[in-house]
Amino acid sequence: MLSTLTSIILWAIFGAIMGWWLGPATGFACLAFGLLIMVLVSGAHVSRIQKWTRNLNDPPPPSIGPWDAILAPVYRQLRRDRQEILDLNRHVDGIMMAAEALPDGAITLNAEMELQWCNQTACEHIGLNLATDRHHSIFNILRAPEFSRYARQLRWDGPLLLHINRDGLEKSLLLQLTPYGLGQFLIVTRDVTQVEKLETTRKDFVANVSHELRTPLTVLLGFLETLQDMPAESLPLEQRQRYEAMMLEQTRHMQSIVADLLTLSTLESSPTVEGETVQVSNLIQSALKQGEAISGGQHTFVTNLDPGLAIQGMETELSSAVSNLITNAIRYTPKDGTITVSWYVLDNGDACYSVQDTGIGIAPQDIPRLTERFYRVDKGRSRSTGGTGLGLAITKHIVMRHNAELQIQSRLGVGSLFTLRFPKSRVRILDN
Ligand code: ADP
Repeated sequence: MLSTLTSIILWAIFGAIMGWWLGPATGFACLAFGLLIMVLVSGAHVSRIQKWTRNLNDPPPPSIGPWDAILAPVYRQLRRDRQEILDLNRHVDGIMMAAEALPDGAITLNAEMELQWCNQTACEHIGLNLATDRHHSIFNILRAPEFSRYARQLRWDGPLLLHINRDGLEKSLLLQLTPYGLGQFLIVTRDVTQVEKLETTRKDFVANVSHELRTPLTVLLGFLETLQDMPAESLPLEQRQRYEAMMLEQTRHMQSIVADLLTLSTLESSPTVEGETVQVSNLIQSALKQGEAISGGQHTFVTNLDPGLAIQGMETELSSAVSNLITNAIRYTPKDGTITVSWYVLDNGDACYSVQDTGIGIAPQDIPRLTERFYRVDKGRSRSTGGTGLGLAITKHIVMRHNAELQIQSRLGVGSLFTLRFPKSRVRILDN
């Protein structure tokens, strides 16, 4: 403003001098000319400023006279605001990324309980689609009566356990609703399907162990009470010996169960095993010797073993798996049956240990359950032959620890084929 005034005064002085020197008309003409130049320069400045306003990211045009003093602070403020917006955006992005990275699902609702936002985990848990479900009531999206009852409460002290079925899969979700801000709501979802399954398995396991130990304990208690109640002389020696033999048998059975349970828990403590080179054919030979003793000449044994084939693993574990399959074949194959034991390498380098029998066989629906703890197709037969129902569960764990696979093929009344297939990475070829 000051410089404009100064320019006018200077032009006026210049006009006055020219008027005094060349006459008033020339003086006024000079003043008019000066004012015209000022208007033109000012117009040029305004048009440069207009051009700049189209892209405020660039600095304002330089040397624009009186406008410099106005535009410089405006531009500085603009830059400060822009930086602040950038920082805020970065902060919001960071919060959004953190919310996306949450292992739990997060859903925000407005005061009318309409969906505002949710992270990817919540989409997977509940099957939300933010693009189509946004601004829709959560009650229309999550249609479960127990959720409606829960969400319509006035206070939410604890979470809700919700069982939902998504794409044919049963899921257990824990949902916690919390009010926040100005009447908004936050729902946090957690998938507890696996935890629930583990809890059920744990309960079943405790129930099974108790059930398994109860039978021999009841028998033992019965005999002990009888022996205690009866005067020693009234019990013939032969009967006493029979009782003692039965008690011994039940005690041994309980001991086998406890030993197998301990083996299982040891095996479970680590997922894989390195071990050393184990000459499997030697293990099979000694398991066969024990097997022949159990069979008592009632079965025919056929063997087909490659002595140069070894496995990188734990000898004690492999020995247990090898003899378990042979013992089972003997126990579930009637007299005069044939048991074929093979140890060979496949074309792709994998090694297989297989035990084939001509025994009672297994129905197709039972095959997938054989490796469950205490699962027996015929409880009576298993118990009468000293089975604990844990043998195949142990074998499966050993197999897993050696990165191998347990394959079971069977036909009821025809026989079974149990195969342990070891990957090439575990196979070692011995020099003779
Ligand atoms: P068990 O101690 O009862 O033999 P396992 O875990 O070794 O326990 O086997 C589980 C069940 O699998 C057995 O009870 C039996 O019903 C079935 N089974 C295992 N091996 C054979 C086989 N070779 N032929 C028929 N059934 C078998």
